Amino acid sequence: MTALTPNHLDALDLAELDARFAAQQDPSAMVRWLVDTIPLDRIIVASAMTSDTVLVDVAAKVAPGIEVLFLDTGYHFAETLQTANAVEHRYPITLRVAPALPIGDERYLTDPDGCCHDRKVVPLEQGLAGRLAWISGVRRSDSPVRADTPFVHRDRRGLIKLNPLAAWTDDDLATYANIHEVPMNPLLDQGYPSIGCVPCTRRPAEGDDPRSGRWSAHAKTECGLHL
Ligand code: SF4
Repeated sequence: MTALTPNHLDALDLAELDARFAAQQDPSAMVRWLVDTIPLDRIIVASAMTSDTVLVDVAAKVAPGIEVLFLDTGYHFAETLQTANAVEHRYPITLRVAPALPIGDERYLTDPDGCCHDRKVVPLEQGLAGRLAWISGVRRSDSPVRADTPFVHRDRRGLIKLNPLAAWTDDDLATYANIHEVPMNPLLDQGYPSIGCVPCTRRPAEGDDPRSGRWSAHAKTECGLHL
């Protein structure tokens, strides 16, 4: 299939496509559609190197050479950085690491929104510069805010955003990771269902909301990357 130009992309009926993806429930087919539609160097996968390494596995098998963006906030767990390293060595991807700003200002204590903006949102914008589409591991089961996540849509920048795992549960991810021997962040097995930066992540108590360990001292629930 011939890749489409940006003007052709504007005319795509993404709602119809989303309905087709919903009927198929096949993440690999969704990625296949994207890489058949848009030049590979105009697409990037975003991974936090948590449970979304499954997405890297799916994308790398469909599109060897695909670029993967990892935002180094400077405050990651050592396990998250080790996972990024393992993923880079395991898959035929080009890993783009957005470098960390200097740490030590402890801004996460008083202004977590500003901290996330500078350490996550701005580097993401820079990583998306020049792209026509990106692929994320956002799932509906992540949180109520994400409950209506489509498989494909146009984001606030006008880019096509593909969410191939939108309908997957934690069990779906674990099953896939087990079958395909995907490198997973070891913290997932240590009681951290949602993993962010060290200062803003705690292990939820038994029975608590899985995302309650994120920014638990604040009302904040999202870093801003997927709003
Ligand atoms: S999660 Fe916390 S430490 Fe990480 S960028 Fe956001 S506020 Fe800063």
